[in-house]
Amino acid sequence: MNDTICAISTTLGVGAISIVRVSGKEAIEKVNNITNIDLTKKKSHTISYAYIKDNNEIIDEVLISIMKAPKTFTTEDTVEINCHGGIATTEKVLELLLKQGIRLAETGEFTKRAFLNGRIDLTEAEAVNDLINTKTDKARKIVINNLKGTTSNKIRKLRERLVKIINNIEVNIDYPEYQDIEEMTVEKIKEEIGSIEEELESIITNSENSKIITNGINIAIIGRPNVGKSSILNKLIEEDKAIVTNIPGTTRDIVEASFNLNGITLNLIDTAGIRETEDIVEQIGVKKSKEALEKADLVLLILNNNEKLTKEDKELLEISKNKKRIIVVNKTDLEKKLDIKDENIVYTNTIEEKGIEELLDKISELYKLEQLETNDFYYVSTIEQLNKIKSTRNNIKDIKAGLKENISIDMLEIDLREIWQTLGEVIGETYTEELLDNLFKNFCVGK
Ligand code: GDP
Repeated sequence: MNDTICAISTTLGVGAISIVRVSGKEAIEKVNNITNIDLTKKKSHTISYAYIKDNNEIIDEVLISIMKAPKTFTTEDTVEINCHGGIATTEKVLELLLKQGIRLAETGEFTKRAFLNGRIDLTEAEAVNDLINTKTDKARKIVINNLKGTTSNKIRKLRERLVKIINNIEVNIDYPEYQDIEEMTVEKIKEEIGSIEEELESIITNSENSKIITNGINIAIIGRPNVGKSSILNKLIEEDKAIVTNIPGTTRDIVEASFNLNGITLNLIDTAGIRETEDIVEQIGVKKSKEALEKADLVLLILNNNEKLTKEDKELLEISKNKKRIIVVNKTDLEKKLDIKDENIVYTNTIEEKGIEELLDKISELYKLEQLETNDFYYVSTIEQLNKIKSTRNNIKDIKAGLKENISIDMLEIDLREIWQTLGEVIGETYTEELLDNLFKNFCVGK
């Protein structure tokens, strides 16, 4: 942890500038070795104009920011070289730094250092990563809140309240003769536990929604050939003129198009494979549909209003039955031959452009998108943290059951302490290496 690390912090490609970041004890001294000016004499938090040199050869004309410990992102000495963008120059600068004996940073290592050095806590560290990956303004708003530590503060306050209850119980253990106090305390505990439970529930709900806000909803459009899948997909995209451009990332190869609905990104999963197999009707791709289903949060199963349910339709209905699903009965301009009932049905006709609005409304309704408020949005973003918070539910259940049975309140202390401990793990007051590795491996290298 004490060595000096470097990485390219901007996207490697053609651009006006690139930033190469260096952090650690030797940052200033090592960068100094490859410049024409004396960086060791520069004041902290200043920017200097300089050349980067490889022996006597000038590699680039740059601006160098010097930020001395401890007021930096990592809390270590940090140097940022703003060089001309472009792959060759940026890589050359990085290569010179590596030659100086500086180590290439691992993914997320700058943020990991910020965490380990106490500059930010775990939920803030995650917010850094989330912020980089947000695509919509709504997502940006909630993430920036977390970056300011609002969720951590919320959790810290809950822990303080738990400590108070635990203290209260200990008073009771020390002074058991005061029956009056005990009775009052049980009431108080009940009230406090109820309120803490509500707060935890709200963090759980928000955390589940945060995935929707930050990553969007992955939607698979499935159905037999010719039922109108492409037509519906095109209408959906046309409906919202603000198409979100595909940002290279994890979903790039599965997402065909994305668009915004109430500030939420809807990612239409590419089911091109299903169309490719159109000729072989028997194989319509139940297999392909299954693959798309696995990646989908929501399924739009398209059926033809003008035909009776076929064996394949039934098969698709079956494989999608456990998913969040909307059945879209298309071609309502043609004679009705289809008879189907389901709680989530929308009728469309892409020729006369009918039903698309209703389809979007249905999606919005299923996810309560209009109610997804970004104010007071406290959430955690990794599944590990969410699971930890969910596990506190069991402790709460045990406490409530105990209170009902009138068990001696000192028995509650174990569960209360466990909630306190688990919440501490969520914000990283106590953490394991494994948790850190899992978190930071999803970061970019220069972050
Ligand atoms: P896919 O194979 O499921 O993607 O279906 P397409 O979107 O390619 O549509 C198949 C055919 O059905 C095309 O000729 C479309 O013009 C037609 N079609 C799509 N939607 C409708 C509709 O609502 N009404 C009618 N009458 N035809 C439609």
